[in-house]
Amino acid sequence: MRDTDLYAQILGLQTPWHVSAVLLNRSDSNVTVQVVAQSTQWCCPRCSKPSPRYDKRICRWRHLDTMQYHTILEAEVPRVKCDEHGVLLVDVPWAEPSSGYTALFESVVIDWLLRTDAQSVAQMLDLSWGVVDRIMQRAVRRGLARREELFPVNISVDETSFQKRHKYVTVVTDQDSNRVLYVADERTTQSLDGFYNTLSTQQCQGIRSVAMDMWPAFIRATVAAVPGALHKIAFDKFHVAKYLGDALDKVRRAEHKSLQQQGDTRLNRTRYQWLTNPKNMSREQKQHFAQLRDSTLRTARAWAMRQEAMSLWDYQSRSWAQNAWSRWLGWVQRCRLEPMKKVGQTIKRHLWGILNAVVLKSHNGHSESMNSRIQSIKRKACGFRNRERFRNAIYFHCGGLDLYPKEIRL
Ligand SMILES: [Zn+2]
Repeated sequence: MRDTDLYAQILGLQTPWHVSAVLLNRSDSNVTVQVVAQSTQWCCPRCSKPSPRYDKRICRWRHLDTMQYHTILEAEVPRVKCDEHGVLLVDVPWAEPSSGYTALFESVVIDWLLRTDAQSVAQMLDLSWGVVDRIMQRAVRRGLARREELFPVNISVDETSFQKRHKYVTVVTDQDSNRVLYVADERTTQSLDGFYNTLSTQQCQGIRSVAMDMWPAFIRATVAAVPGALHKIAFDKFHVAKYLGDALDKVRRAEHKSLQQQGDTRLNRTRYQWLTNPKNMSREQKQHFAQLRDSTLRTARAWAMRQEAMSLWDYQSRSWAQNAWSRWLGWVQRCRLEPMKKVGQTIKRHLWGILNAVVLKSHNGHSESMNSRIQSIKRKACGFRNRERFRNAIYFHCGGLDLYPKEIRL
């Protein structure tokens, strides 16, 4: 078999395209497959109207390697002159317009990007970081353009920082399909308005629950956009737990400081134990922690308050939940632990939305899992200096998008 025939078959080229030559360049370790088109009736790539050939251009694409050699597809691509759209290159079946990589090659890059970070993909495939980034951006644009119309029912809104300094993006997630629907700059009312503005009135009406932090900007945007929002906004368990955990830690630090002054080191290196679920502790840790927990320490009292609050999410009826939370609030308000009292006040002001979360069952750890997925994307990239890149990475990994180039006829 001739080498040109071999490559034509491997590439699956169809008329009018065929392989005219295969050039091996040992010193640069590459194979160039030259492809030409027989004369045929060409069409305008925009409107598909048959159009006369105008001239041709030599274009190159990197394709999957031939064994250890980089492989370049080089083709004479005709330009047509459309009455309406002017002079344009015709579409080729192996690549998307204005990409220097064949669709199969881009698919491999996307496959790897889903498994590891951009830097490693660049090294492995001998590409620059910028090229990998552009393939990723194109994949996201393609995926978003293809996405069907959204009819979200249960969503959650979260903020996430993308740098050490406090810079944020707002992330809207569909709880039912567990995919990110929208990423916006900042964490303002306008950030979330941006998402609601993509929905019709009917789509907004279809929203059943919006899980979120007790964050005024998100509340405002949701009240303005979603009919009946005051029964749909749900301050979920994950966020409430975070506030309580922070308050508990403040109590522990203050108490530790005053105990140390009296030479009491009981609270030394116990931060993790107070904040972790006892289920995840070893037997020894459990025994040690049981002593702390049953002591008369202020930290132990704050811990008990937090544990109690975490058990108040399983009610079916709003009034039962309300009674239980009111009892809890009474306990917290009587305690003399300032950080706990402060959280108690915040919770009291937002109790309506906590009760919504309880009855809507909008507290399934969903926010938590999405948050940790996003954090791991951030860790893999060693942080993001650029908000746009961070946004792209979130869509890429969590958007549930169809990222791959068009089905190709190679
Ligand atoms: Zn045209």
